[in-house]
Amino acid sequence: MADDNTPENSGYHALATLLESIEVGLVVIDLDYRVKVWNGFMENHSGMTANRIQNQSLFEAFPDLPKTWLTRKVQSVVTLNTRTFTSWEQRPYLFRFRNTRPVTGTEEFMFQNLTISPLTGTGGQVEQVCLMIYDVTDVASGRRALEHANEQLERLSSTDRLTGLLNRGTWENLLDAEFERYRRYGHNTVLVMFDIDHFKQVNDTYGHLIGDEVIREVARITREALRQADRPGRYGGEEFGIILPETDIDGALVICERIRETLATTVIHTDDGDIRCTVSMGLVQLTDEPENYMQWLQQADDALYQAKEGGRNRSVAIRP
Ligand code: GH3
Ligand code: MG
Ligand code: MG
Repeated sequence: MADDNTPENSGYHALATLLESIEVGLVVIDLDYRVKVWNGFMENHSGMTANRIQNQSLFEAFPDLPKTWLTRKVQSVVTLNTRTFTSWEQRPYLFRFRNTRPVTGTEEFMFQNLTISPLTGTGGQVEQVCLMIYDVTDVASGRRALEHANEQLERLSSTDRLTGLLNRGTWENLLDAEFERYRRYGHNTVLVMFDIDHFKQVNDTYGHLIGDEVIREVARITREALRQADRPGRYGGEEFGIILPETDIDGALVICERIRETLATTVIHTDDGDIRCTVSMGLVQLTDEPENYMQWLQQADDALYQAKEGGRNRSVAIRP
């Protein structure tokens, strides 16, 4: 038996003090889940003293623990004699502790990472396991706040990422507003829907990324051909809509034919070669007939369908 003043013993004592006060939860259990070590971190956060829980079954002291899950984890640590790690993303916490961090007070519970390590006896057999519980509430709540902010941004964003045009939701809101404006003031307003011809072939021949480039180029050319007050939007994959306020059907046809001809004669230079594409367009001037903007949209879609049926690379206008 070593004297208390040997260097090894004072080193052991220092280590024990350190583990007692470290900001990581340390729990050692035997193979019957009886608690052998319960450090200061565990005492502080659980309210359970080391004396009280000593030699007690962990599951009896904490009936809320996920018994089946933890048993399976511990079994594999014992059998394989290797440690395992579980992050808060897989399981937010093992012990349900209140979050006491002042800065991250928005989270109700402490997020935890968990490491389970085997502890071998003198014979080399695993006799105990050590659970190490890390408080990662700061990281987790930071990440969650970021994810939340990104979701909000996505929702608030009004433009389509690929083309920079208005996205479908925003564009449809405008269409609805334009429909209501017509009801009140009766100004000439034309809706255009157009779709790239045989676009599947572009994707099949050049791949999706080059396809995306073509979509972006069609959007750019369209935007450049329009006036400030005109409202182009990306309706779907390679389908676009344009709202032309203060425009009658003849004026709209001039604008659309210009866009269509420009597109048909433009060579799009890509890394994989030069691509040409055409579009088909359906135009309809708003009348008192549609009962809502969706019926107006349906009329434009019908005109677009006629343009496709008629041979593509053309505009079909429905006159009031
Ligand atoms: P049509 O002349 O009748 O319009 O023939 P199409 O081949 O263009 O047929 P359709 O308009 O029905 O199909 C459009 C294709 O566009 C289907 C889809 O694979 C592709 N697509 C849709 N969205 C995107 C996108 O964002 N990027 C790329 N690269 N392709 C898309
Ligand atoms: Mg198409
Ligand atoms: Mg389409």
